[in-house]
Amino acid sequence: MGERKKMKNRYRRFSFLSDIHGIKSSIGEMKGLGHPKQPPLNKNYTSREDDPVLNEEWFVDTIKENLVNHPDNIMEYPYYGERIFEEPLVGFVRGDDSLLTEYKKIIGPHHFTPFEIMKWQAEKNNVPAPDAEDLSVVSFVMPLTRKTKNDNAGRDDWVSERWAQTRLLGELFSQKFVREMVTYLMKRGILAIAPDVTPMFNKKRYPVVGWASPWSHRHMAYAAGLGSFGMHDLFITDKGCAHRTASFVVNLKLNPNRERQDDIHANCLHYQGIECLKCAERCPIDAITAEDAHDKERCMKRVEASTKYCNKNYHIFIYGCGICATGTPCEFGIPKPLQKEGP
Ligand code: SF4
Ligand code: SF4
Repeated sequence: MGERKKMKNRYRRFSFLSDIHGIKSSIGEMKGLGHPKQPPLNKNYTSREDDPVLNEEWFVDTIKENLVNHPDNIMEYPYYGERIFEEPLVGFVRGDDSLLTEYKKIIGPHHFTPFEIMKWQAEKNNVPAPDAEDLSVVSFVMPLTRKTKNDNAGRDDWVSERWAQTRLLGELFSQKFVREMVTYLMKRGILAIAPDVTPMFNKKRYPVVGWASPWSHRHMAYAAGLGSFGMHDLFITDKGCAHRTASFVVNLKLNPNRERQDDIHANCLHYQGIECLKCAERCPIDAITAEDAHDKERCMKRVEASTKYCNKNYHIFIYGCGICATGTPCEFGIPKPLQKEGP
């Protein structure tokens, strides 16, 4: 936190050289390199009377409380003191949920099942791999603040500075936060793993799906009933589509707390036959069309090109866009016509 506070007095001028956190994060994301070592499993843990019971309620409350009040959930200069993320949504998927195996067909054979990634962690700790039915995925959605959304909604060309900052700091923070959760569980003798901070994680271009990673937080969030996808391929939740998602696997049986929507596009107006396509109107390079929905390759090129813009204008080493996530009916929540009536 101190480092971010000091930033005001030594604001980056040559971020390609000086933004070491940004460079490390990009290399980690693309190549699976540079992540800190996995926390070891404490095989000799003896439970204490005051240990909290690690049930669904504990995960929801702990993630919500610790995330909102975390000292690193804070922006840098010139927004120092503002939060990066608001209160998250939290959900669970059982490790043997058949959808997670189907993801091998839907996303691609490279996508890990919870069992596969946990097997890697178990082997590293010299313990037998738990069965899929004894695993759960804990998934959470971290909404960006209104200020960040509003800044991007005011842009029609390149990403805003607040959004770019949250892209970089939010990624670093979410990795740190998940690591803290995993470390706590491993200390308590419970196998846990965050797939995206292991050497197993690297982004590649795959034949069917194009650019993809071997663990999709958003698909985990869909499986956990936290929302569904829009024309822009973003994930539309009760708190909108401008957020980051995170997830980890744990050797506990946690029951789903939300009902999964059968239709993967249930929260998108266009897919539900209601006139919209505001995301397509917002996209500065026409990467979203009624005919072909979201052109991932075209979008990726634009997003990559934004690194230069962010460097020149904001002095940070990051790429981002999210113009189509803001100024739309799905920015802050599920679009009104699709909201379900309360009980
Ligand atoms: S802006 Fe409209 S069409 Fe685009 S994803 Fe959101 S609800 Fe769907
Ligand atoms: S993120 Fe991609 S699809 Fe969305 S506005 Fe930017 S370039 Fe267009």
